[in-house]
Amino acid sequence: MEKKDLKNFTLAGLEAYISGLGKERFRAKQIFKWLYQMDATGFSQMTNVSKEFRSALEESAVISNLEPEVVEASQDGTRKYLFRLEDGAAVESVLIPDEGRNTLCISSQVGCAMGCAFCLTGSFGLSRNLSTAEIVNQVCAVKRDQPVRNIVFMGMGEPLANLSAVIPAVQILTDPDGFQFSTRKVTVSTCGLVPEMAELGRGVTVNLALSLNATTDEVRSQIMPVNRRYPLQQLLAACKAFPLPSRRWITIEYVLIRYLNDTLEDAKRLVRLISNIPSKVNLIPFNEHAGCAFRSPTQEAIDRFHKYLLDKNVTVITRSSRGSDISAACGQLKGRLDD
Ligand code: SAH
Ligand code: SF4
Repeated sequence: MEKKDLKNFTLAGLEAYISGLGKERFRAKQIFKWLYQMDATGFSQMTNVSKEFRSALEESAVISNLEPEVVEASQDGTRKYLFRLEDGAAVESVLIPDEGRNTLCISSQVGCAMGCAFCLTGSFGLSRNLSTAEIVNQVCAVKRDQPVRNIVFMGMGEPLANLSAVIPAVQILTDPDGFQFSTRKVTVSTCGLVPEMAELGRGVTVNLALSLNATTDEVRSQIMPVNRRYPLQQLLAACKAFPLPSRRWITIEYVLIRYLNDTLEDAKRLVRLISNIPSKVNLIPFNEHAGCAFRSPTQEAIDRFHKYLLDKNVTVITRSSRGSDISAACGQLKGRLDD
């Protein structure tokens, strides 16, 4: 029988597994703490667990681990980690420092199937989903290197296209016996898979970010094929219905692309679209990459857009392009080294 990877289990899953071995369920908490609070990578480290129980576990289970193959440091402090997975595929995680409140951006898939026209990750298509263990192991590995305050699922992949691994990963991240992140410090970002947004909300309490990126169905469908399945009206209704952690807002991400969606008319439509959704807007000036014809907006267009939202009392930040010198900025992750 194939051995189970303990890092694929939520606490409830581990309890069921352990009672299936004929052992007391309460031991699951102990093991869970060893994995995520003490960062144990082997059974022998679990010194307060009886030898007999440890060897029973060892016979049927393994503890997987990831070590970064490469760590690149940007001049601005951003760090990019490349992880080689067991089958040779690779994913990246990016740590973004912000006055001591480090945010870790993790990947949920190798590549992405959603095909957004502006995104480098998307241009490679989907290789495969990550397992829960591969998702949480990114966090284990980066925490060994740097403190981590917030987690965002904004690396490679569409997290809502891999809910069966992402929901357990969020549970492990926010479990008081696991990583202990507050639900307010974990954010899942989506391009707008409407039924899966509802499913995520039913499964876990977590922040939601929506990559909106356009204010008309015409433009959105042009740059985000997902919009042909779930157009704006349905999408915004799903946002409104999403059960956020208390006192939280939906993050509306808006990649500003020159001439395409950066006009004052767009800013006006955006304000109207989100007027009845508790939200804050992140403006992300498009990061150019080879093989993509879109251009970054002018500083003037960024300022005009930003100011219009501010004047309408929308909470808005313009995200500075962090880590672009090491290809770690939004939409620049491709899971391999620069040629
Ligand atoms: N698939 C999810 C999460 C990963 S993408 C999603 O789409 O939300 C993370 C963010 O990077 C998204 O908001 C996306 O719109 C943005 N992005 C993608 N390519 C970009 C680029 N070239 N420049 C700036 N932002 C980009
Ligand atoms: Fe996939 Fe998100 Fe990139 Fe779209 S923006 S292709 S959903 S990773």
